[in-house]
Amino acid sequence: MPSDSALSIVWIYPDLLSTYGDQGNVLVLEQRARRRGIETETIHVRSADPVPENGDIYLIGGGEDRPQILAAERLRRDGGLHRAIARGAALLAVCAGYQIMGSTFGGEEGQPVDGIGLLDISSSRGPARAVGELVAEVDAALGLPTLTGFENHMGVTHLGPGVRPLSRTVKGIGNGDGFEGCYAGHVVGTYLHGPALARNPALADLLLSWRVGQLTPLDDSHYEALRQERLSTVMQP
Ligand code: GLN
Repeated sequence: MPSDSALSIVWIYPDLLSTYGDQGNVLVLEQRARRRGIETETIHVRSADPVPENGDIYLIGGGEDRPQILAAERLRRDGGLHRAIARGAALLAVCAGYQIMGSTFGGEEGQPVDGIGLLDISSSRGPARAVGELVAEVDAALGLPTLTGFENHMGVTHLGPGVRPLSRTVKGIGNGDGFEGCYAGHVVGTYLHGPALARNPALADLLLSWRVGQLTPLDDSHYEALRQERLSTVMQP
């Protein structure tokens, strides 16, 4: 159970969904909070365990088709994530975890599988696997710098009127319609691995600020060096 004093970070289903180092998102959030003197507590929720509903920031990663289906079933049955979001918690959902948040997604044979309906999106199998670096310009309303990361997924995602696109793709496929990811309230979905928050620390700070308010700036020169290296490599003509 999360305590009331520390900022609680809840890592959902590390036993099912944690490909491409997505767990690094947890480490980045912990580190960026602690560097500002904010105490954190991280809870790893395995798929047999209930999802606590009084956490602050929830994270879920990417994965293969079978574990993705299992994760969707268990999250739906559990209901804890829905209650947490209804209480104002923040969520970053990556790739398989992103697709699960919608009404439906494509299973291992492309069959439609029920998602958990936290976001107004639906996913299905796309025409080809999207693999490679992704660069995208974020919705101006969020005031974040260019997103960088990589993607590896078969699914394409259709956004309904209840969400806004997170960003417009400059390189890569993302949702498959010229946009990458989406957000609604304090819930962000994205296809970005990298891990996403190591490549995009401003996105980590957005999640933190939703829970703790204004944040003091940090020296991000090492993150910036990584970002510039990736962005200049990818954007080479
Ligand atoms: N199984 C999903 C797809 O291929 C998600 C993949 C992933 O999480 N990397 O679209």
